[in-house]
Amino acid sequence: MITVKNIAELNEILDEQRSNNKSIGFVPTMGALHQGHLSLIDIANQKSDFVVASIFVNPTQFAPNEDFDQYPRTEEQDAMLLEKVGADLLFLPTVNEIYAGGLHSDIKTGDAAMGLETDFRPDFFKGVVNVVDRLFSAVNPDVAVFGNKDYQQLQVIKQMVDETGRTTKIIGAPIIRDEHGLALSSRNAYLSQDEIKIAQSLNAILKEAALTDNFDQARDALRSKGFDKIDYIEKRWDRVLAAAWLGKTRLIDNVPAKN
Ligand code: AMP
Repeated sequence: MITVKNIAELNEILDEQRSNNKSIGFVPTMGALHQGHLSLIDIANQKSDFVVASIFVNPTQFAPNEDFDQYPRTEEQDAMLLEKVGADLLFLPTVNEIYAGGLHSDIKTGDAAMGLETDFRPDFFKGVVNVVDRLFSAVNPDVAVFGNKDYQQLQVIKQMVDETGRTTKIIGAPIIRDEHGLALSSRNAYLSQDEIKIAQSLNAILKEAALTDNFDQARDALRSKGFDKIDYIEKRWDRVLAAAWLGKTRLIDNVPAKN
């Protein structure tokens, strides 16, 4: 696996791959990799010839009161895992490399960004489309793989790609969970042992809510398990989506809706 920190070097390598008729697959991440991320690399490997993974903790998608500084950074281990699972190139840009021309972006979020996450993190998707657009411009992938775990994000990115006329095919990938149904997340590293036990109830409560359509009951169930605050539990697209807090940690998950 090749590791590259700047866009000029990245372009050189990708141009050579393209000149050999190799298609480019891309998996953007913020690092602290787990099996969920690695499953995206597997899919990218099936769908393309040359797989680029990026690790970039994007400052523009964190609000000032959020966890940008604390976000786990485990680059060495991440690189080992990526190599093992068969990524071809690790793109590790600096903030200056990505935001050389300033933080501003003209890329707008579409209506997929309205409500849900945006009600609680108003600028989050602006930051996401800003960075994904810049990363896509750098990599120019044929396919890019994103997890269904961040289901609203996936819809926002699909809409952004459609509206900006990019040809990149966006693939949504299944949510990888632990044996109790807890969706793997880099932020699970913040949870204490007691909190993990509580977190493991989220998926079952969501599945029950998808069956009954009773979201008030689901809120009560989450509170009685020990969740501190429920930002939302709602049906949208073909999913039931939720965000809830355990102490200082915010968890999100979603399951297929009944119909
Ligand atoms: P992140 O590093 O949290 O920005 O996530 C990078 C990508 O991995 C996003 O497309 C996420 O949706 C995806 N992802 C994160 N956790 C999981 C999971 N448990 N299963 C599948 N995909 C995931």
